[in-house]
Amino acid sequence: MLAKFLETVRQRITRPLQYYQDICVRCGACIDACHFYVVSGNPAHIPAYRMMLVKKLLQSDGGSRKGILGWYRETGMASERMVTELRQALWECTGCRRCSVFCPFDLDTALLVNMGRYALGQEGMGMEMVAEIGNAEVSKGEIIDALKEFYVDQVRELEGRIRQEWGVPDLRIPVDEPARVLYVPVVGEHAIIPLAKIFHAAKESWTLSMFTATNHSFFVGDIEKAKQAAHWIVQEARRLGAQVIAYAECGHATRTLLNFWDHWFGDEIAGIQRVSVVQLVASYLQEGRIRVREGAFDVPMTYHDPCNLGRNAGIFEEPRMLIRAVATDFRELSPNRELNWCCGGGGGMIAEPEMFEVRMKAGRPKVEQIQRTGARWVVTTCENCKTQLADLSERYGLGVEIKGAVDLIADALVL
Ligand code: SF4
Ligand code: SF4
Repeated sequence: MLAKFLETVRQRITRPLQYYQDICVRCGACIDACHFYVVSGNPAHIPAYRMMLVKKLLQSDGGSRKGILGWYRETGMASERMVTELRQALWECTGCRRCSVFCPFDLDTALLVNMGRYALGQEGMGMEMVAEIGNAEVSKGEIIDALKEFYVDQVRELEGRIRQEWGVPDLRIPVDEPARVLYVPVVGEHAIIPLAKIFHAAKESWTLSMFTATNHSFFVGDIEKAKQAAHWIVQEARRLGAQVIAYAECGHATRTLLNFWDHWFGDEIAGIQRVSVVQLVASYLQEGRIRVREGAFDVPMTYHDPCNLGRNAGIFEEPRMLIRAVATDFRELSPNRELNWCCGGGGGMIAEPEMFEVRMKAGRPKVEQIQRTGARWVVTTCENCKTQLADLSERYGLGVEIKGAVDLIADALVL
């Protein structure tokens, strides 16, 4: 039992991860930082306990000859309960890294959880839907030529609609053309329309990627596949001579782009700037390349810092700059920035239907934060957060509208 899990953990555990388990002094500073534990009171949700569980399993299996069975007999834990705890510890975590901010040693529970998830997947205890979407993102590159005609047709139809609705007959959505900026969207025209308008207004040389930014293999800890999926975009950028790769409002994807790609691709991406589209649009505003109607929106609004864009990639000010450019009543959540509460929808949970109730509960601290502001619009810059916040609004009767920061700018553009 759990033989594959343990074998994989033993193969994959790195020295830093071992240190994390050894350095933890059980001070408890991380306990109340985790939204899962705050709402559940379940010890399996305590960040340090998540790490200790993996350590205990490794030790009991390797050192004492009693095996895992011996350990949970010793601790009085039934096997079923132990497996449930392990699942909860490794899957009911959004990888938000709020616990690391409170840990005096910066121990990165999320990193260990990510590795543990991959190991659980080898044991047949993975999030299958998420892994399947990840596989599709990898294999898309192999059939991209066959998909191109259909994709271009769809984009042309969308382009025609935007031209008509917006009254801009010369607006273009270039696909697979050499350009300065390669824009990589998420699935859905809502991720293309505002940027088509903004790029047009900024007179940017841009092209739309044939791929999507999302990288579900990252959620299940399958780093080899995460690299393969991202590598299609690297190849596309090089083929088109792009100087900038701009990712859509997508937290985990932006985190991989900004924090992992140097390590994954080294010289292959040298000289190509990588940004969130939020940063790119903020630069257009700063440089005067686009103009917006100041005070265009007279609605009380707040901003939710996506964990992966804010705490994990350092993008705090640019979204606020976009909001302040068009809002008359911007109200900060408390706490915000690196201490912001996770919305409870990260870590791949959105894509896994059976996690719905778990994420609804985990979002309660976020709901209370929003209620305290009295905001009617909640702006955010991550696709997962948008879905989760909309679901939370419905479940808890918040009655708020969820907006992207770039949507606000597109809707307030002055041509
Ligand atoms: S990364 Fe976030 S969800 Fe995971 S244990 Fe830490 S605080 Fe909890
Ligand atoms: S805050 Fe850090 S050292 Fe303290 S219990 Fe949590 S993980 Fe361990």
